Amino acid sequence: MKTQITYSFVIPFMNEEEVLGTLLLRLSDLMGALDGPCEAVFVDDGSRDAGAAIVAAAARRDPRVKLIRLSRNFGHQIAVTAGLNTVRGAAVIIMDADLQDPPEVVHDLVAQWRAGYEIVHAQRRLREGETRFKKWSANLYYRLLARLSSVEIPRNVGDFRLVDAKVVEAIRSMPERDRYLRGMFAWVGFRQTIVQFDRPQRLAGKTKYPLKKMMRLAMDGVIGFSDVPLRLALWLGALVSLGAMTYGIYIFVIALFTGGLVAGWASTIVILSFLAGMNLLISGVIGLYVGRIHNESKNRPLYFVSESIGITEPVRMPQPKLVVHG
Ligand code: UDP
Ligand code: MG
Repeated sequence: MKTQITYSFVIPFMNEEEVLGTLLLRLSDLMGALDGPCEAVFVDDGSRDAGAAIVAAAARRDPRVKLIRLSRNFGHQIAVTAGLNTVRGAAVIIMDADLQDPPEVVHDLVAQWRAGYEIVHAQRRLREGETRFKKWSANLYYRLLARLSSVEIPRNVGDFRLVDAKVVEAIRSMPERDRYLRGMFAWVGFRQTIVQFDRPQRLAGKTKYPLKKMMRLAMDGVIGFSDVPLRLALWLGALVSLGAMTYGIYIFVIALFTGGLVAGWASTIVILSFLAGMNLLISGVIGLYVGRIHNESKNRPLYFVSESIGITEPVRMPQPKLVVHG
């Protein structure tokens, strides 16, 4: 017989051996303090250190602790997805391994869930120890995303949140490859609310989100949740043609009244190169979207599991569904 689990934790990690010991202790306290049976699913996203061994040892001592090891590094968002596909709790809490998502805040998240909310986002009020550039760029980005996207994605909210089992079910049915979970959680609807917290520094180790990965995630957010960049082509195209037409009329009038026109090569070059640049830019934007279609059309599984501990049911992978018409 299966025991009913109330709270499931999903904790993705990559090369976090310095923090996992402390996290396991704090988590064990938290699970003891919560008002229902708990499980903690750790997802090893291709770590190259002793992290998986630390979790595996804990899993052998404590049946609440479970481990899934992905076959390589698939990225944070996919690791969270793998965790979501295995949990069984009535409420699921996603948090980082580095204790930047403080376990105490979970009590506040749970209170809102008990009050009837199905998605409780944890919003960063203060960000300690992050560079001014990171704070500034994050702020700018969230504003831009809010302007561009058709769904309201809460600002300064990362992946730390509590969601109801219904929401997990909804997310499982979304097979997209380029996953921007914070956008997906905002998109699915349900009763949502926000709890604020002050984000501490990571306990130890370095961020696993270097600028390049950060940019990639930011792109996934914009492209996955907005088609404004695509429509930009239309407006820019219209604007440029209008400009060209006006200039054409101007030249015609000059030619009509003065006759001499050979002197215009500089402006010709300027306009030509401007148009060429515009063309490249717009094809680039279109390329971003086509790239996504290409990525989706390969229809590969999102990840592979190489090993797991404590997971009784096979790990579910979202399989693309075949739709037959007629
Ligand atoms: N992470 C992961 N796979 C990756 C990158 C990060 O599983 O490819 C995990 C990481 O171990 C941590 C969480 O995702 O538990 C958030 O990463 P990090 O703390 O480095 O991001 P930051 O807080 O600096 O934005
Ligand atoms: Mg962190």
